[in-house]
Amino acid sequence: MPRIKQPVTATSSFCGLAATLILLATACSKTDPPAEAGEAPEQQTAATLVNDAAMGDETAGENWLAFGRTYSEQRYSPLDQINTSNVSGLRVDWFLDLPKDKGLVSTPLVVDGILYFVGSMNKVRAVDARTGEMLWEHDPEVHKHTGTGLRVGWEHNRGIGIWQDKVYQATWDGRLIALDRATGKQLWSVRTFPADSPLYITGAPKIFKGKVLIGNGGTEAGPARGYVTAYDAETGAQAWRFYIVPGNPADGFENEAMKMAAETWTGEWWTMGGGGNAWHGFTYDVELDQLYIGTGNGAPWNRKIRSPGGGDNLFLCSVVALDPDTGEYLWHYQTTPGETWDFNSNMDIVLADLDIQGKEVKALMHAPKNGFFYVIDRTDGRLISAEPFSKTTWATHIDLETGRPVEVPGSRYESGSVRLSPTPYGAHSWSAMSYNPNTGLAYYPAMHLSVIYSDEGVDLESWQPSSFEGDTLGVSWVMDDDPKDQLSTLQAYDPVAGKIAWELPQPGRVNGGTMTTAGNLVFQGRADGQFMAYDASTGKQLWSYDMGLGISAPPVTYAIDGKQYVTLLVGWGGGVAGLGGDIARDHGWAYGRHTRRLVTFSLDGNVELPPAPAAAAAEPIAMPEFNVDPALADQGGTEFGRCLVCHGPGAIGAGMAPDLRASEVVGSSEAFDAIVRGGSLKQNGMPQFAHLTDEQLLALRHYIRQQAEAD
Ligand code: CA
Repeated sequence: MPRIKQPVTATSSFCGLAATLILLATACSKTDPPAEAGEAPEQQTAATLVNDAAMGDETAGENWLAFGRTYSEQRYSPLDQINTSNVSGLRVDWFLDLPKDKGLVSTPLVVDGILYFVGSMNKVRAVDARTGEMLWEHDPEVHKHTGTGLRVGWEHNRGIGIWQDKVYQATWDGRLIALDRATGKQLWSVRTFPADSPLYITGAPKIFKGKVLIGNGGTEAGPARGYVTAYDAETGAQAWRFYIVPGNPADGFENEAMKMAAETWTGEWWTMGGGGNAWHGFTYDVELDQLYIGTGNGAPWNRKIRSPGGGDNLFLCSVVALDPDTGEYLWHYQTTPGETWDFNSNMDIVLADLDIQGKEVKALMHAPKNGFFYVIDRTDGRLISAEPFSKTTWATHIDLETGRPVEVPGSRYESGSVRLSPTPYGAHSWSAMSYNPNTGLAYYPAMHLSVIYSDEGVDLESWQPSSFEGDTLGVSWVMDDDPKDQLSTLQAYDPVAGKIAWELPQPGRVNGGTMTTAGNLVFQGRADGQFMAYDASTGKQLWSYDMGLGISAPPVTYAIDGKQYVTLLVGWGGGVAGLGGDIARDHGWAYGRHTRRLVTFSLDGNVELPPAPAAAAAEPIAMPEFNVDPALADQGGTEFGRCLVCHGPGAIGAGMAPDLRASEVVGSSEAFDAIVRGGSLKQNGMPQFAHLTDEQLLALRHYIRQQAEAD
């Protein structure tokens, strides 16, 4: 049974004073007026039919029907009630506490006054978009479906899909599930990969023409061969599957595209999977009836191992256009040929018609990890422009004649270790990019980081992949940021001029995605917990609100009965939040202290969020009876590579998972074993590492205690 929560009572500040007088609370609730006999029904308009026409309609602003609001993925709303002249008066209208959630990164959807969103551990909820009252909740019980394999750090999910009367979600463990939109009841569930496969899903299913599309991640988790699959939205029956990299030629190719792709690979790549996993960027083009897939990096990362004779390795790090009905290949553009740095092209693919030198171009915009902003003619994949938006020391520029990057010698760590920008975290990652057709600017948070790659000491000849160990790289990398660099900025990029129009410094490294409106605004949540509104033309800061906790999710906007709302999820987390661990520590967002929330703003809101708990850092505890063995701790430091995504580099907690230096569990071999090997905390998102040996567990404990004592 879905758990139904009590409605959130939206109390004004006056009512806040009377909060102890519980009886008064209802009277003070402005969003829940007493019903009068003969009052008009709440929903006066006909129900929205969520289909291709609705999701392709850029002009209607009441709903937010799809991940990128509409098929164009612009995250642009035509609503303008909230605008540059009045946004300074934006106030909290209602909020919903989500005390058991952790990392919240998803885009809520809104249809006819009901808001749907996915939280931690893939729980999907529907709430009244006017009040935050919970209508239903669906828990897909991910921990019962993950098998024993490691899928570390991915308890978050970026979104859900809606088609007609159903809500679709894809789970961490690989299921695609259809829910009844009215009740949250599960209608069908299909496996998109076996439970014991080293793949996972963090992305939103995309729906078009009665089909649901989903890919997967896992390039770093094993010998993965990426693919996307389309299913019938009504029944869940598989419609088609497109593999991103070729398999073993001896088995025959699935299609001509795979045959073509195989000519760009060398050696026995299929024994290592090849990678290319498409985990995020999928865009349906309703106008040209094409589907665009952003593809992932190679498995392993190091091309010398993966494809020892070189080659572009299609379709890694590409935008691939497919026929939405059949999954047949149409065209591709590869951003990073022969990639060897984890410079994947999984980022948002945003569609717009651009006036370029007096000619209207059906364009797509794409700002992938490699640091170049691509404008591509989406009719045929022809490159129009590709300018750097961050330091790109791996390539001097993109040659517009060939469409290929001009690489800097040594970048492939062929002459020893090399320091490069961008990094495996990308100059831009999954944080949402929006595009405002009025300003002609694209808005996204950029990262300006540096890394040292080296494959010295890696036996390139005999290297073999393993599953669930997080070591399928074949190259070591160490972040090496330049203290002189502004590590993150919010950028407004002009795709016609091919340059940054304005740019603002941002806190930390990883900031939230953007949304833009006809009110000439850009909204964005930042790593330091500030929810911001900027003038879309100039970047001038017009409003901010302190959410009391780092923000990783992008905002959305919608309207009910003529009133515009702005909503976002507040829950520091996601795949790269560990990178920003220091910001969590600086702000004292120790694990478990700060309540996650769904927060909605309006111009006549009159609610205050409860004050944030006092900042607190986890204090390493003393264990005088635990004698750290330096050799074991050394080994444990290597073993800890599989832990740090959640528990933080150096075992210093980043607020997403407990700080292990403060954990009593580490002192007890039995308790540690029960959690790590026995999987007793799987329901909290702690994966089960069933295959680890006694010695590995012991080494981990010695490493953690060494770190605790070093503090
Ligand atoms: Ca990757």
